[in-house]
Amino acid sequence: MGARRGIDYIERLKNNPPETWIGKEKVTDPTTHPLIAPAVQSIARLYDSQWEPEKKPYMLSNSPDTGEWIGNSFLVPKSKEDLALRRLMHRDWAEETYGMMGRSTDFMSAMLTAWYVNSDFFGPYEENVRNYFEHVRENDLYLTHVLIDPQVDRSKPPSEQPDEFTYLGVVKETDEGIIVRGAKMLATAGPYADEMLVWPFHLRKPTEKDYKYAISFALPLNTPGVRLISREPFTRKSVYDHPLSSQFDELDGVVIFDDVLVPWERVFIYQDVERVNTIWKLNSNAMTGHQTAIRLQAKLQFLAGLVMKSTEMVNTNQFPHVQDMMGEITTYIELIRAAVIASEVTAQPNSAGIYMPNVTPLYAIRNSGNRWYPRVREIIQFAIAGGLMYQPADAGVFDSPIAGDIRKYYRGADVTAEEKIKLFKIAADIAVSDFGSRHELYERFYSGDPMFLRIQTQYTAYDKSESLALVDRLLASYELEKPVQEGVGK
Ligand SMILES: Cc1cc2nc3c(=O)[nH]c(=O)nc-3n(C[C@H](O)[C@H](O)[C@H](O)COP(=O)(O)OP(=O)(O)OC[C@H]3O[C@@H](n4cnc5c(N)ncnc54)[C@H](O)[C@@H]3O)c2cc1C
Repeated sequence: MGARRGIDYIERLKNNPPETWIGKEKVTDPTTHPLIAPAVQSIARLYDSQWEPEKKPYMLSNSPDTGEWIGNSFLVPKSKEDLALRRLMHRDWAEETYGMMGRSTDFMSAMLTAWYVNSDFFGPYEENVRNYFEHVRENDLYLTHVLIDPQVDRSKPPSEQPDEFTYLGVVKETDEGIIVRGAKMLATAGPYADEMLVWPFHLRKPTEKDYKYAISFALPLNTPGVRLISREPFTRKSVYDHPLSSQFDELDGVVIFDDVLVPWERVFIYQDVERVNTIWKLNSNAMTGHQTAIRLQAKLQFLAGLVMKSTEMVNTNQFPHVQDMMGEITTYIELIRAAVIASEVTAQPNSAGIYMPNVTPLYAIRNSGNRWYPRVREIIQFAIAGGLMYQPADAGVFDSPIAGDIRKYYRGADVTAEEKIKLFKIAADIAVSDFGSRHELYERFYSGDPMFLRIQTQYTAYDKSESLALVDRLLASYELEKPVQEGVGK
């Protein structure tokens, strides 16, 4: 099949719906469900956009196997130019949703591309990973991933949770595959994705009773026994009143595995503590970090524009501290832009001539973005202030007895009430809504606990040699008996 269009994605989802529960309601068709369909439509638009003639040169390339068009999110980069192509592709997918859909399909495709590039890591299951990547690429599938153990008792290992299979583990082996039971959080986009990739984010103990939790595999989301329990959707009906949450609410859900068969060909790591604990060796953070940095850049650019335009409408953009806050957002944007380019320019080929982005500058952005984003949301609140609450409940007011009040008191310095309310409702949707709060939580946590992430990547595993060498050089330049000043001026 190769690269899909929106209609292909929707048809497949309609025919293979994941078993999703919203409260006590079992969703039968996510493509028409009022709380899920808007996100489905947004994803469908992404699939369509990759075929737009002016974008096709960087969105698609030819499959090395079939020659058909495939998405460039699966492109194995063989040069720095390929990394630049990937950047253009990620940028377009991010801009298409204003950076609001963190788990657009290019995120997981980037991750799986890294798994494919480093598939020898999987030892006896290497072939399974390679075949799976090719299957996903050739069918342009939309993946989510579920890694986190359910938040039941964080003080205890998997084997000491209240039930042996609270955390996902192997119940038994059969000729066809393994039977797994337990739960995982959180499958962002799970209710409308095609498949999920599973492995444990938390380290596993090298003790026999914890082996069964050291697994990785992939499955279609509509596999029998798989259930998704969705959080409360934040989807709203009116695009005018809720321009973002009406279109881009990425649903998150807990995945329950109720004695699910994972066929052997879909098993990637099996009861192997050493491998699940060293999965970072796949360097998938280089590929996903490229995508997440580019997406964050698009999101911050959009939000910067939002603050610039809304403060201009009421002339608060003349005040120095408001300008300073807008300058803070653009500073973050430029740091991301520089880090992305640095990750490409300093990329080094591996022994097979494949260029993964240099992960070091991308880690710096990941470890900053999770702190910058809450600050940017705060800036929107400081800069627009009561304006975020000073909007009529819905667009119906323009056709009501109070329309005159609205036109008189809701206008801006030089713009009509219609223009101003339209813009300020976007700002309110990201700054003070439930949808906006979820975005703050997402940016803080989507790649793990921000504190542990920074400790691991910016301190424990960070190359400290340059910093220490500078200190050592100065230390070596003087001694207690011979102060630096001795002899000066003689
Ligand atoms: C909106 C959203 C979308 C997400 N999407 C996905 C997704 O698509 N796929 C996916 O797999 N995951 C997803 N996640 C999960 C995300 O990866 C986790 O939220 C993140 O790793 C933090 O884990 P946790 O939520 O279980 O928090 P916890 O690990 O329970 O942490 C809670 C608090 O306890 C502290 N803490 C926990 N353990 C320890 C410890 N051992 N020592 C000291 N302090 C500790 C933490 O520092 C934190 O302050 C998503 C999360 C959010 C919020």
